[in-house]
Amino acid sequence: SPFPIFLAGKVQYGFGRGGKDLGCPTANLPDESITPMSSVANTGVYYGYAQVVSPPDAASEFSPEDLKVLPMVMSLGWNPFYKNEKLTAEIHIMHEFKKDFYGYEMRAIVLGYIRPELDYTSREALIDDIEFDKRVALNCLERPEYRKYEQDPYFTGGA
Ligand code: ADP
Ligand code: MG
Repeated sequence: SPFPIFLAGKVQYGFGRGGKDLGCPTANLPDESITPMSSVANTGVYYGYAQVVSPPDAASEFSPEDLKVLPMVMSLGWNPFYKNEKLTAEIHIMHEFKKDFYGYEMRAIVLGYIRPELDYTSREALIDDIEFDKRVALNCLERPEYRKYEQDPYFTGGA
């Protein structure tokens, strides 16, 4: 198994392809930080943990919960904008943030694969699948073997 896979980088602006409209904003990792995922050729949806790291001077803009290690689902896909030559990793953290965190460092540990990427004909079908993915992720992360990564020293102990 290629897991766990450790990823980190500053959150980039995406194309604003409606992540927020779907109730599912996805924070994009920069290209260079996706290299560890190249060993996993499968595009699709993954689960694991993620953490937003705030510099001490900005910590007061977040709530303490915003900076915790939180469950996430990640979509790994070939970006059509770059003629499908570039992999994109987008992370949805299962938490309601007080504010956006573009430009901040995000760390993630990818622990498992949920499903391949599908072509959706309806918005409803896509939303249904995202909701299902979140439940699968939360269920999987209940297992002690996965849960222990929440305490991994790769994450910071707080701001
Ligand atoms: P973009 O195309 O720029 O990625 P999105 O609609 O996908 O736009 O929104 C992603 C941004 O929303 C993230 O970069 C982050 O700053 C913010 N955000 C707020 N809440 C979350 C969350 N729970 N998970 C991921 N990103 C979030
Ligand atoms: Mg996004």
